[in-house]
Amino acid sequence: MKLVYVLGNGQLGRMLRQAGEQLGVMVYPIEPNMDPKKLLISQCVMTSEIEKWPKTALTNMLSKHHAFINHKIYPILTDRLTQKQLLNQLGIRTTTWQLLSSPAQWKQIFSSFGNIVIVKYRTGGYNGKGQWRICSDIKHILPNICYGRSIVEKIVHFSNEISLIGARGYDGRTVFYPLTYNFHQNGILRVSAVLPDHHIQQKKAEKMLSMIMHELNYIGVMAMECFIVSEDLLINELAPRVHNSGHWTQNAASISQFELHLRAILKLPLPAPVIHMPAVMLNLIGIHANMKWLSDPHVCLHWYDKKVYDGRKVGHLNVVDVNKIAISKALHTLIPLLPSEYMRGITWAQEKLD
Ligand code: AMP
Repeated sequence: MKLVYVLGNGQLGRMLRQAGEQLGVMVYPIEPNMDPKKLLISQCVMTSEIEKWPKTALTNMLSKHHAFINHKIYPILTDRLTQKQLLNQLGIRTTTWQLLSSPAQWKQIFSSFGNIVIVKYRTGGYNGKGQWRICSDIKHILPNICYGRSIVEKIVHFSNEISLIGARGYDGRTVFYPLTYNFHQNGILRVSAVLPDHHIQQKKAEKMLSMIMHELNYIGVMAMECFIVSEDLLINELAPRVHNSGHWTQNAASISQFELHLRAILKLPLPAPVIHMPAVMLNLIGIHANMKWLSDPHVCLHWYDKKVYDGRKVGHLNVVDVNKIAISKALHTLIPLLPSEYMRGITWAQEKLD
């Protein structure tokens, strides 16, 4: 079996390594500045857990190397401009957007998009960083550096945010998990919830993501984040990698998203994962581990062993059971064990479970 290198050394790389251990596959997360001569490139497949990387000897070599799966696709999907252009060419609906190149555009932007808009860096933004809500009287707060390297989007008034995680193999076969509901605060994912009931938009979302993955000849796991607006799906963004909103699959699915990605890039069998039960995933953000979380047997802790600082994702809790009431009760036991700002996300999840 080939070994797997993962570009990037964060929690996604760590969880890919953990999934590899079960399969007996060696997975090594590596930093972009690693000396390429140290890699066993002829014996490996290479994937990425990050979407932006510095120009180094390694990343220059990888940008053209066939061992780096999807290397031709990263430049398209990791730039919001080319990603949206691709979706619009395919006739897939996105948020209304345009390139932001100069302050002279503001008058036209506010008159077509409304009084408040969202500016997003084309590349490199994450967890709400590189993103600004701008209204007509405070446009001067936008850093000058944004012009030319950002897009601007109309605010979407959505009923729900959902994501679809799927994978495509070398033979073009695609498999999917059920749609996941997501709750964000300040641009950062706080809670995901997946329910066993077949979501009315499931087939439509699968068709959209299949079309995208086939068009790109993509291999591996891809995440598609959408807004639901009066029964319609608008794509917010695509991520060419395993995704935070798929972490629940570690405890509630027969194949986790991490294993699914490894299977796809290693040409291993790719059956559709079986979903055992509903699940809620709570992100642990900027807080220290509290082993009392484990007092309820439905709560599974995934701790990333990273330095804790404000706003940093340091772990997640998957709360799973076949019975939705048991999940809701387990979430209740977590309330006194978490900072008060988690309350909104927990209540949101309990409402989804009702
Ligand atoms: P993003 O980094 O594009 O995934 O955005 C992070 C979060 O910000 C999303 O999950 C939404 O909650 C919110 N958001 C982003 N774009 C929009 C939009 N055009 N309208 C309303 N909310 C948005």
